Amino acid sequence: MEPRNDTIMKIEIISTGDELMSGLTLDSNFNWAGDTLTTLGFDVAYHTTVGDIRDRIAEAFHIAQNRAQAVIVTGGLGPTDDDLTAEVAAEYFGSSLELNQEAYDKLENWMKERGKVLSESNKKQAYLPACSTMLDNKWGTAPGFRIESQGMIFFFLPGVPTEFHAMMNHYVVPELENRAQDRMKRAMRLVKIFGLPESEVAERLRGLEHEGVTLGYRSHRPEIHLRVCSFADTESHAQKLTRDFVDEIQSRIGEYVFTTEGELLEEVVGRLLIEKSLTLATAESCTGGLLASRITDVPGSSTYFLEGIVSYSNEAKEKVLGVSESLLQSHGAVSAPVAEAMASGVRKLSGSDIGIGISGIAGPGGGTAEKPVGTVYIGLDVKGVGTSSYKYQFSGSREQIKIVSSEKALDMIMKFLIMKV
Ligand code: ATP
Ligand code: MG
Repeated sequence: MEPRNDTIMKIEIISTGDELMSGLTLDSNFNWAGDTLTTLGFDVAYHTTVGDIRDRIAEAFHIAQNRAQAVIVTGGLGPTDDDLTAEVAAEYFGSSLELNQEAYDKLENWMKERGKVLSESNKKQAYLPACSTMLDNKWGTAPGFRIESQGMIFFFLPGVPTEFHAMMNHYVVPELENRAQDRMKRAMRLVKIFGLPESEVAERLRGLEHEGVTLGYRSHRPEIHLRVCSFADTESHAQKLTRDFVDEIQSRIGEYVFTTEGELLEEVVGRLLIEKSLTLATAESCTGGLLASRITDVPGSSTYFLEGIVSYSNEAKEKVLGVSESLLQSHGAVSAPVAEAMASGVRKLSGSDIGIGISGIAGPGGGTAEKPVGTVYIGLDVKGVGTSSYKYQFSGSREQIKIVSSEKALDMIMKFLIMKV
């Protein structure tokens, strides 16, 4: 077979394992690899899933060899009898299994460090196709390997997701980047949007796509992610195509774009708080701490996040946050005055610059005609500025209402930080 010289390298991912075919295990390795490689601008052209059956695995290799330039195989490298990948690969490439001394020594050491002896079945993992190069698995026991054949490259990686991710990042991505270098240059940006329905986004961006640039939509409820990817002869040309495209997106829907660099909304908020040297505290009812959890998912959030209170009951709102009983009685817990009082309460309690309060009805029960399920109030209290609050009417499941409430709260903080400070 001739080496391929398509402008963009086509990649095929082959997932192996009976548990994937029977639906017992979700093929998260493919999800992750597809996302990672596409984000980097690679063309994930094919995906095959195959059970632990020799002929079918070999058939999958054969099909991939005829249509892709790089193949990534996941699973079946372990010690058990259903782990057939190395055996089938050896046979397929006209080679044989051979003890790889380096892999053997590493396995023995791995076991020794854990006070175990190397069993016969574990030894099996050190037998690799003679025509392959070992890929040291520093994250587990089963070594991976790579085989080059007729201008193509096959990577064989373990199925355990943590090991698969680490080995993809460590070996596969750098090598694919190298191989892609003499091909078309690419530039990728991930634009994230919140607050505009997908149909409206599509409407406003209509006609924008042109030669050399692709626009990919991904719904990531409640956000919409747009992947802009350009291909050109030089890196600077690809970057310019992407930059111009992103500028055009900004001019059409800029107020809904919270990042053009793939950041999380909570990261954007954190960055702005650091830039403005401001601190934040949260008081949550219906979101049950989700907002604080998202804020603290960001490394370094301790510099700006002081305190998060989950004040679920009225008593907690009174006792911890100092929301007055009369306010709760006259307006109800799900109301603008209470959301504002929660925001002020936690701001004073923590001594932060910004306090945020969320109170709402996540459902599925608890709604009334006046305040149906999905009614959420978000209150904001800023030192030296005062309090404000907004009412929202969200829809969806309990979980979705919690997520969109936390998103709206982050969006509110972000907009305040951008516009008012
Ligand atoms: P091991 O040394 O653990 O045997 P392996 O390379 O043989 O590694 P498998 O036996 O295929 O890998 O799978 C190991 C574990 O990883 C199993 O729990 C399996 O369910 C999980 N796994 C395998 N493939 C995938 C996949 N594509 N996505 C998510 N999980 C997977
Ligand atoms: Mg296994």
